[in-house]
Amino acid sequence: MGNIQSALDAGIAVTIRLNMDARNAGDLLRLLDDVKARFEGCDNLDIYIALLHEFEGKIHRHETDQQAEEAYGLLRDKAEAMGMLRRKPLPDGIAINSCMADNDACETILPDGRVGRCEHFSEAMVTGDIWNDARDTAVETNWRKPLSVPECEDCALYPQCRKLSLCEWNRDGCDRLDRSIKINDLKRKMLEAYHVYKKES
Ligand code: SF4
Repeated sequence: MGNIQSALDAGIAVTIRLNMDARNAGDLLRLLDDVKARFEGCDNLDIYIALLHEFEGKIHRHETDQQAEEAYGLLRDKAEAMGMLRRKPLPDGIAINSCMADNDACETILPDGRVGRCEHFSEAMVTGDIWNDARDTAVETNWRKPLSVPECEDCALYPQCRKLSLCEWNRDGCDRLDRSIKINDLKRKMLEAYHVYKKES
């Protein structure tokens, strides 16, 4: 909290990411009370909530997707009522990359000079090193392959979606819960954009 305050005092915009799973959802609600008490009224601080995926067995999933969506909704609504929920506008174009793994402007550099595309695959998918320009283009091409599952056929997130097939988060395909949360967020953004349009017209 002190570090956040220092950054804000120095004019640096701060985004707080709340990583949520079944075990800490209640704690995060209480944390929002502390954030509100300390930072209410700050206009260069915002919050977003990330519902964590299963990752190497370290995440405690809710027993049902419905419980997870409800817990996510409680946090989101509370942050929104505080006026601190991060608002990304509706996309106005087609995304051309997902993250650093499929972005040709990015590389992950290991302490020994080897390079790759994703920090989660720093040993397994090295593409070259900092002393040579040569790269393993086959690996780089594989990183750019989008996830493609039967649900894409009528998914509201297509074609904006840029999930990568190699990404560990998508190991079991397209997570239904993640998709549902993103579709709900998209609907909310569309409604908000409509209300703004009505107000201004
Ligand atoms: S969210 Fe899933 S189903 Fe929808 S377009 Fe992306 S990969 Fe396909």
